Amino acid sequence: MPYPNSLRNRFIITLSVMLVLVMGILVFILHQLMIPNLISEERQSAHVYANALQKSIDHNASTLSDMTWQWASWVSTREFMAGRLPDFPATHITSAVFADHDADMMLITNSNDGVVRVAGRNPVTGEFTSCARPEGPCLWTLEQVRQIQRQLPVTDTTPRIGVSPEFALLSTWPIARQNSPLLSGKLTLVRFLPGQWQPNPADHTSTLTLSAVRQGTDTDADSTAVDIDSTSDDNLRLTLSRDSATPGYLVVMSTRMDRESLRDGIKRFNLTMLGAMGLLLALMMLMLWVFRTIVLRPIAELSRYAMALRQAPGEHLESPPSWLQARGDELGVMAREFQTLIKELNDRNAHLKALTNRDALTGLGNRRLLDRQLPRILSLTHRLERPVALIMIDVDHFKLYNDFYGHPEGDQCLKTIAETLSDIFQRESDLVARIGGEEFVIVLPDFDLDRAMDIARGVCTAMEAQCLPHERSPTHKYVTISAGVAISSPEHPLPGEVLIKQADEALYQVKKGSRNAVGCARPG
Ligand code: GH3
Ligand code: MG
Ligand code: MG
Repeated sequence: MPYPNSLRNRFIITLSVMLVLVMGILVFILHQLMIPNLISEERQSAHVYANALQKSIDHNASTLSDMTWQWASWVSTREFMAGRLPDFPATHITSAVFADHDADMMLITNSNDGVVRVAGRNPVTGEFTSCARPEGPCLWTLEQVRQIQRQLPVTDTTPRIGVSPEFALLSTWPIARQNSPLLSGKLTLVRFLPGQWQPNPADHTSTLTLSAVRQGTDTDADSTAVDIDSTSDDNLRLTLSRDSATPGYLVVMSTRMDRESLRDGIKRFNLTMLGAMGLLLALMMLMLWVFRTIVLRPIAELSRYAMALRQAPGEHLESPPSWLQARGDELGVMAREFQTLIKELNDRNAHLKALTNRDALTGLGNRRLLDRQLPRILSLTHRLERPVALIMIDVDHFKLYNDFYGHPEGDQCLKTIAETLSDIFQRESDLVARIGGEEFVIVLPDFDLDRAMDIARGVCTAMEAQCLPHERSPTHKYVTISAGVAISSPEHPLPGEVLIKQADEALYQVKKGSRNAVGCARPG
């Protein structure tokens, strides 16, 4: 019968609760410790990446600035500004020089910021043009020239990114006058930047998307600020803002950084957690198996045994299984204690049984024993095709004996008779019982009528031979007995009570006559 509150169920529930608790703790560790730690590491590496990008941008600016300074410092440039080298544009401002210097456009202005020379490669046509004014073939430079002229009054030589008419890195240096502290003009070099700019050509993964933001319109955009946006699960958005060369505008450069390390970290932890859960589950199964083998099975066996004991119909109770008794642990002790109790119960049962079947005075069997055994003896003996004889004995004039000698003497007399009978009938199959006050019955399997009559007479003689004086007996001076014999044969089997009745009637006939004699019932 399954128990809802069985130890097995309780054990499973306890283990499951523990498993859920451990899972909860692991999830808590993941969310409260691991993920914040991983995010903090990710932000650190994002800052390192942003710094590297800043350095690449600064490197671009400083190389352009160096180049501009060199060009502005050339003696030829100064000579040209002094009007002494008219061939300077044709000889020095060439397509090859531009290619060498990785510049796209150049503007030379005089001390009044008026254009002296403008040259460069048209980004649309790819054609190199060099003119004294931003017109004609150099008309494409007009917007860029205007933008540069707008910031020329600024004395700062720091290169900046211009946002109009297109994104471009601009660097301006003054051109000194020969042998004079005064300036003869300014030289500006321009490098056009694509909308998707790789500031470090060696690193193809770092592409900046350039955009212009009007200052004051976007609160997030701040000059020289680095912003890290982590709203997407897949990418971090890195935004670098700088003052642009175009007044009122910020140039905003943004790129994306894959959040692979964070994803990997979480994946690794999840895998570890899954592994730990699997391990715990396997451990739980193992513990359950061990618990079942070591504890549950023996307890179930003991319970089954105890229930079987209660339902056992017999007087003899079975012992607990020997393998349980052989155990050296507490359950073994319990089984052995059970065994001791059972043994005591069996002994007591046997003793009680003996008491209920015995006559207390003589120690012979009693009426109860006769009633239980006689049908069995009859059936077994007849099955072997043998007859059964029954002798009923009654003490003659026993009332007179009692009256004259007293009750205790009467008891003693009855005991002597019992001893005499026990001496005569020693076969294991013989049954001798005291069935009433001074009445005895002897059941003799495998005895025919003649042998039974003979032995009954022998009993009478044996009693007489005891020479127990009976002064009041009208029959004899010693105690005598009378006997009635009846037979049940395989041919004419009789039920036990009929056999007793027939022997009793035979006895009655003897009593009616002389006494100290044997009579028999005529076999039917
Ligand atoms: P009969 O020859 O016809 O058998 O006469 P009787 O006196 O033996 O028969 P009756 O049945 O009249 O008396 C039986 C007596 O047995 C009566 C009683 O005093 C005595 N008796 C019965 N049981 C016991 C016993 O346990 N102890 C003693 N001492 N006497 C007993
Ligand atoms: Mg009697
Ligand atoms: Mg009698």
